[in-house]
Amino acid sequence: MLSKTCSLMASLPCSSPRVRGKPSMWPSVRKDWFGKNLLYGFGSLLLRPLRTLHGVGNLFGAARSMCNITNVASSLQIELVPCLQDNYAYLLHDVDTGTVGVVDPSEAVPVINALQRKNQNLTYILNTHHHYDHTGGNLELKARYGAKVIGSGKDKDRIPGIDIALHDGETWMFARHQVLVMETPGHTRGHVSYYFPGCGAVFTGDTLFSLSCGKLFEGNPEQMLSSLRKIMSLPDDTNIYCGHEYTLSNSKFALSIEPENEELQEYAAQVAHLRSKKQPTIPTTLKREKQCNPFLRTSSPEIRQNLRIPATASDAQALGVIRQAKDNF
Ligand SMILES: [Zn+2]
Repeated sequence: MLSKTCSLMASLPCSSPRVRGKPSMWPSVRKDWFGKNLLYGFGSLLLRPLRTLHGVGNLFGAARSMCNITNVASSLQIELVPCLQDNYAYLLHDVDTGTVGVVDPSEAVPVINALQRKNQNLTYILNTHHHYDHTGGNLELKARYGAKVIGSGKDKDRIPGIDIALHDGETWMFARHQVLVMETPGHTRGHVSYYFPGCGAVFTGDTLFSLSCGKLFEGNPEQMLSSLRKIMSLPDDTNIYCGHEYTLSNSKFALSIEPENEELQEYAAQVAHLRSKKQPTIPTTLKREKQCNPFLRTSSPEIRQNLRIPATASDAQALGVIRQAKDNF
C-alpha cells in the first residue's frame, strides 16, 4: 500500500537561475534577522554564515554550486514523497555532491523506498516541528543511514534523535545550498520553516499550507500572523512546500468566505482537476497564496464582511476569526 502511494512521486528539479536582492522583511523580524548578520542575495558572498555545516562532497569548487549567491542554475532536486494519509515528506538531492536530505519524514518506509529506487544514501533529516506525523521516521532512518537530525533548538527535547539544534535567523548549509532557519510559531511553539534562497524554496511544515494555515495548538493568532508575515516577506516567486495535501478541502472553505475572488476561483478549479487525477497541488507559490489564501488576506473586505469581522478589527483578530471559522467548517 505504501509503495503504491509512492508511485505518485514527482521529481521537481529546481533549475531556474535566480537573481535575488535582499527581500523586504517584515519590520518585526527585520531587526532580529539582520541583527544576526543574516543577509542574503549577492551581499552574502562576503559574509560568513553564523553557523556553517557542510554536507558531503564539499571538495568541489565553490562558484558553480553557490546557486544562492551567484547567477547559476541550482542543482537541488526536490521530490515529493507521500506519507501516511495526506502528509508529504520531501527528498532533497544536491546533484553535484550527491548529498541527500529529507524534510519531515512522518514514516520511514516510503522514504527508504524512494532512496532505494535511486540507490541513494541519506545524510540529513530536517524537521519543521515535533509532531509525530513529521518526525515519525526519524529514528529508523537515522539508525539505518546514520543521518543527522536537524530541528529547532526550542524543540530539542521533543524532536526524536535531534543532533543539530538551530535557531531563528541562523544559516545552515545543505551541501552548498544556504538554508535559512525561520522560527514560525503558532501551530507549535518550536515550529521552524527552512528557506533555500538560492532555489526559491521554503519548507513551511504546518505553518503555511496552500489556501490555509496550521491549527493553533500552541500559539495564538498574533504569533501565527507574525509567522505568516515572515514567510510573506520572501520573494513572490518562492515555491512553498508544505506538510500536507489539504488544498482541495482548503479551497472549499476559502471559496465559502471569498466567493468573488477570481484568482481563487481559477486556482480552486485547477486544484480540483489535479486532485481528480490524484496529482499533488504542491508546490504552490507565495504569489498565488497572497492572491488566494484567506489567512494571508485578513484585510479582504469580502472575507471580513462574510465573517462579520469589523473593519476596525486588527489583522490578528481577523485571523483568529478566520481560523475559528475554518476549525468549524
Ligand atoms: Zn503539526
